Amino acid sequence: MQNDPALLWEQARRHLRQHVSAANYDTWLAGAEGVRLDGDTLVIGTPSEFVTEWLQQRLRPLMLRTLADLAGRPVAIAFEPLRAPDDGSAPLQPGAAEEQPRRGEPRRHLRLSDRYVLETFVVGPGNELAFAAAEGVAGAPGALHNPLFVYGAVGLGKTHLLHGVGHKLAAAGKRITYISAEQFTNELITAIQRRTQEEFREHYRTAEALLIDDIQFVSGKEATQAELFHTFNNLYEAGRQIVVASDKSPALIPDLEERLRSRFEWGLIADIQTPDIETRIAILRSKAQAQQVQLDDAVLDAIARRFTNNIRELEGSLARVLAFARLAQAPVTPDLVQSALASLEQNEPRLQPSPDVILAAVCRYFGIDREALLSKSREKRVAYPRQLAMYLMRELAHRSLVEIGQTLGGRDHSTVHHGWRKMERSIHIDPETKHDVAALQELIERNREVA
Ligand code: ADP
Ligand code: MG
Repeated sequence: MQNDPALLWEQARRHLRQHVSAANYDTWLAGAEGVRLDGDTLVIGTPSEFVTEWLQQRLRPLMLRTLADLAGRPVAIAFEPLRAPDDGSAPLQPGAAEEQPRRGEPRRHLRLSDRYVLETFVVGPGNELAFAAAEGVAGAPGALHNPLFVYGAVGLGKTHLLHGVGHKLAAAGKRITYISAEQFTNELITAIQRRTQEEFREHYRTAEALLIDDIQFVSGKEATQAELFHTFNNLYEAGRQIVVASDKSPALIPDLEERLRSRFEWGLIADIQTPDIETRIAILRSKAQAQQVQLDDAVLDAIARRFTNNIRELEGSLARVLAFARLAQAPVTPDLVQSALASLEQNEPRLQPSPDVILAAVCRYFGIDREALLSKSREKRVAYPRQLAMYLMRELAHRSLVEIGQTLGGRDHSTVHHGWRKMERSIHIDPETKHDVAALQELIERNREVA
């Protein structure tokens, strides 16, 4: 198995995932692929130079260690672009070459992935609003919903939608800028250091459409927020479309300037919820078709039932099943799906815990019973554990406020929001809360393994 570069990389990535934030994972690791093994060198394909550089600088030692552990021998790494630079995929900015700043490094943009087009986005009850809004914006930029703010948990298609809008606008001849909030921040810092802020501003404030991914990253970053605010105003006043993706609603992004928050709320806010089983099957079918693989409904069903939260994981399972079948030279059957995915279950501590597991852990940790936790009592003895449960259900299980309220004995979503926020703040100022959260997380992790 260690000789299959795709599998080796997939295993390594699962491990690396536990060491980086979700936003970094999405931005830098999700798009990289294990291309081939040249002797003892794993060649990793990346979607852009920018990704290569980030991986080199930030993750290289950890990658080497992880790969050596997995392969049982030292493995070197090398990078190469996934696609040739001039493969005809939509340029982010037609004519970008003339626009590169003269001073300093050329500006490097994240590219739009060819795979993330609106046509391949499978629509279901969880994402239909966001999808319709994205289509609307792509057809009438600046006119319908400005900004369009899409939010949802990790791996549910936000980046896909953003790229999809980008492709449409680029095809209509718009000069679009797609960037992650982290990259925006990094560029701003560089611009400040090199005194090229004017160019930086000019660049962002003259885009015909601005797509910003993972905006939650700006939380607590004052200079970035101020810059973004002015960029936003310039573009908005010029009737330019702005699309923002986030893992939280504007209301829930901590340490966000009020004026920016309110701008985000001006247009349309569309959330993406976890897909139901039918949508998951439809997505799997479409992903399999894209790889020219025909799979029985029973097989699709078996894969779709194992992962419920995250479409990226669903895709990972499909890749794993196909690789497994290839290695075993066996046809893909529901049984094969079970064996291919069985080992994942143990090594997959990243699966989101259910609210029930969280509830059980909180009760056990504080030695209180479920009824007390779900009761109306406001005694500190139960109120604090309850708020921690709210916080953990939000952070670990990515449940909606409404859903958390229901799980916790029919509480209002604003109560849940209050509890979540309180804990979020408390973690930073109160070592005891911090300790409780860490201990609970560990307990939940362990429970999940036996569950
Ligand atoms: P996010 O940005 O929300 O974390 P991504 O947009 O990166 O998620 O999506 C993760 C993966 O799941 C991508 O490969 C994407 O193509 C796929 N995906 C998500 N939602 C859908 C969908 N509705 N239809 C098809 N593919 C989807
Ligand atoms: Mg994303």
